[in-house]
Parts: sequence; structure tokens; C-alpha cells
Amino acid sequence: MVLHRPEKVSLKMIVSLTPPQDLADLAAYSAQIGADPLLIQGAGGNTSVKDGDVMWVKASGTNLADALDKDIFVPVDLPAMRASLADGSPDADKPMQFLLGDSTLRPSIETSLHAAFPHRVVIHVHCVNTLSHAVRADAEAILAEKLDGFDWRLAPYAKPGANLARAVRDRLGEPPADVAVLRNHGLIIAADTVAAAPDLLARVTAALAAPETRPFTPVLDSLFPLANGQWRVPEPKDALHQLASPARAEQAAAGSLYPDHVIFCGVAAHCVDGDRLPDASEAPPFVILPGRGVMVRTDMSPGALAMSRCLADVLVRVPEGAELTYLTESENLELLDWDAEKYRQRLNV
Ligand SMILES: [Zn+2]
Repeated sequence: MVLHRPEKVSLKMIVSLTPPQDLADLAAYSAQIGADPLLIQGAGGNTSVKDGDVMWVKASGTNLADALDKDIFVPVDLPAMRASLADGSPDADKPMQFLLGDSTLRPSIETSLHAAFPHRVVIHVHCVNTLSHAVRADAEAILAEKLDGFDWRLAPYAKPGANLARAVRDRLGEPPADVAVLRNHGLIIAADTVAAAPDLLARVTAALAAPETRPFTPVLDSLFPLANGQWRVPEPKDALHQLASPARAEQAAAGSLYPDHVIFCGVAAHCVDGDRLPDASEAPPFVILPGRGVMVRTDMSPGALAMSRCLADVLVRVPEGAELTYLTESENLELLDWDAEKYRQRLNV
């Protein structure tokens, strides 16, 4: 742990690093939502509980689904993290600087997002139903209608980390809102107790539920002969094939809709016309054969598989003709050239 200021030393000396009583409850709830691919995909999403000056937050690269089997929470110095958010310090993007104790895990790269909320408990999910609205150009109007009655805010897209946390913090208002939708990213709910969080998340996700539209029947007979040591055809019922409807293939290939897609699957999606598959060593984890189906690399990681299915789950919930907002070229590049993410990917192969 790096200590810059004497007060961090004193905090480390005086605070107890015994987890709060309700961390076990948060772990149980985290495992539950972590097992739901409509809320969490792979190592995405994170949860936290504050205990005085210590915030217990999910560690980077760990899976919420594992919360009951492994120690996935690490303690961080909450006042120091908030101070660096307030003074614009670049340290806020280095959550490792705020780790208390001697864990070998790093706090989530989204730790600052949790610190931005005054509420004790923060739940951040990459909710598919939320994303199906939050990637649309008209997200604000749609969300205003669906979240009528909630105290909610919409935050603009920013790379996950301190700038996003500051954008959320600046919009919370007084009294602070307990629901935040992050454009092209996901959903946060906040509560004062672990016990209150599940009800709020359930009510918000129910309000945002979007029906699946335009079911596509894959045509796989012509794909099986293309399978080889590098590429395979997922089961016919795999949601991934929904990406192969011509309209969705066009939407998927047009750009990246949210950060974890870029990090685990690369920029946008790759369509293949004809029967010539790219060399897998230089290809993204999956390719779309429009009008036919999807093929995936035989060495595809579980994280990439979860994220590719997420894209299908989002796009089946986007109505035909909806205008989508994609990440810009520079937003894609800053995600790909990010040491913190390379660490998370290494842990999550
Ligand atoms: Zn996130």
C-alpha cells in the first residue's frame, strides 16, 4: 500500500478492518445477482458497503457470483478516496492507493463510483434491460417515462473511473438520488441498508423491463462445415445467434455500445460475408455471419462469451429502427489502452 499523507497512516492505525456485520448479507445478495446474466456478465458490476471511514468494495477481476465462496471484498480508505475525487486528483483513478490492510487483490476500478454516493450500500450492475434504453439516442425521454416515481438521475458516458464518479456525484442532488442510470454503461442503486437494496433494484429493473423483439431463427446447416480447430458453432438455441439477424448484425457491426464489450470482445462486432473465416489468432472472439448465425473461437474466454451473449441480450430488447449511440473512436481507444483493465482481464481468463 502506498501512503502519501500522514492521515492515511493514522486511519490505517486506528480503524478496525473487521468487516461490518452485514458484509455477509451483501455477499449473499452479490452472489445472487452475479448469477443472473441479465444483471451481471462475467467480472462486470460491483457492490459495496460503507462502515464508518472504511468502504468494503468488490475487488477488480473477481466475480460477484463467487461472493459466497471466496473473499471478493477489499477495504478502502473512504475519506481519502473522496478527497481525491473532490480535489480532482488523478489518484482517484488508482484505487490501489486507497487499499487498507494487506490484501493482494486490487479494489475495483469503479471504486470511486461507490465512494461518490453518501448511501451506505451501493449496487452497480450492467443490467441488460437498462442498457437496452441507455444505448439509445433518446435514452433520456424513455427513461423519464419508465422511471417516473423514482428519484433517479442520468449520467453521461465517461470511461469507468474517477471522471464518471464525479459526473454521477455532481448530479445526485439533495437529498441525493438513489438510482443512477449511466449512459452506455449500466445502472446503480443505493440504499442505507443491505436489506433495502434488493427491493429497490427489483423495482427499478422491473420498471425498465424491455420485451424481446424480432426473434431470429438461425440457419446453421451451412455453418457446421466451417467449424474447425479455431472456430465452432454454438448450440442452435444459444442467444448469440440472435446477433445474426441482418438488422442486428448491422447494429452490432456499427460500433461498441458499452465499455465491457470493448474490453472483452474488441471494438464493435465483426461480420463475415461468405464462408471465409478470419485466422482466429487475429480475430475477435466471435464473428457474425448475417442471416445465418454466429461462430465463436474455440479458445474464447468465459468473460468474452458472457459479454458476447450480453450484446445479443441487449439488441433483442432494442426496438426496430431505434437510433443507437455508439462509443466514439477515442472512447474505444482509451478502453483498449488501459493498464487497470489489462489486470482485470488477466484475472478473468
Ligand atoms: Zn460498470
